Amino acid sequence: MLIHTVNEVREAVNSWKKENLTVGLVPTMGALHEGHLSLIKKAKETCDRVVVSDFVNPIQFGPSEDFDKYPRTLNEDMKLCDNEGVDIVFAPSADEMYQKGQRLSNDTLTYVCPPFFYVNTLCGKSRVGHFDGVCTVVLKLFNIVQPDYAFFGQKDAQQVIIIKKMVNDLNVPVKIIQCPIVREASGLALSSRNKYLSEDGKKDALVLSKILKNIKSCYDKGVTDVAALKETAYGFLNDKHDMEYLEIVDRDNLENKIKADDNSIALIALRVENVRLIDNIYLKD
Ligand code: AMP
Repeated sequence: MLIHTVNEVREAVNSWKKENLTVGLVPTMGALHEGHLSLIKKAKETCDRVVVSDFVNPIQFGPSEDFDKYPRTLNEDMKLCDNEGVDIVFAPSADEMYQKGQRLSNDTLTYVCPPFFYVNTLCGKSRVGHFDGVCTVVLKLFNIVQPDYAFFGQKDAQQVIIIKKMVNDLNVPVKIIQCPIVREASGLALSSRNKYLSEDGKKDALVLSKILKNIKSCYDKGVTDVAALKETAYGFLNDKHDMEYLEIVDRDNLENKIKADDNSIALIALRVENVRLIDNIYLKD
């Protein structure tokens, strides 16, 4: 069922709660692909009822980012969700989420601001304010849907770490379930932004997963020095690749490492054809 308003979602969820049914939420920005579907499948396995939110959240995009051109495919998304047996697709307008006429800035709107150490690194460094926008919309969705479980992908590793931190720090009564990265057979991590890439661009984009796989295999062979592990990337790069960052940090709190260990995660952000792509890998599964 497609729902556009907060009140209608609340009504449906209240009736489920009266029957003691568990509720799962899968927050998305739409343009659904197999990565999103893996979260939805996990939610279906775990919960009695599943809500998928489909909302391109304006406040998590910077002024020069791709908010306007972000793919919007609600009809196709609905079909995919119907196939998976999703109970509600919640697709609010920006006015429904943020009150018509309200200026979307933190001098007029209450924002949730995650800790500096969690945002002043990796994607947060170039996407200033991005995680404030993410946490704000996710907490709003938690308050609207009041899910027992919420499902996030490891694809956006910094995001899920920050959401877990928010839930813990603010005592939000929801259990966060992290799901593995879904990749194409080539190794390319699925992303709604892959739609911006040409066929050649998709080939050039394989460099992200190649660099990460190689770092993991060097770690498996005993290399732990982070600088040495990061240096192995250079052999894969050419002028089609515009590197933003490659870091190896703690997978729970994003702290930098000098020596990698079994709790380390390697993360990369890189532009191909001016499309910003991210990927990551645990050094030990
Ligand atoms: P998005 O629509 O890009 O905001 O993503 C919605 C959710 O789907 C987030 O929790 C993402 O981490 C997750 N997701 C996106 N791509 C993938 C993927 N390739 N594998 C697993 N989860 C993903």
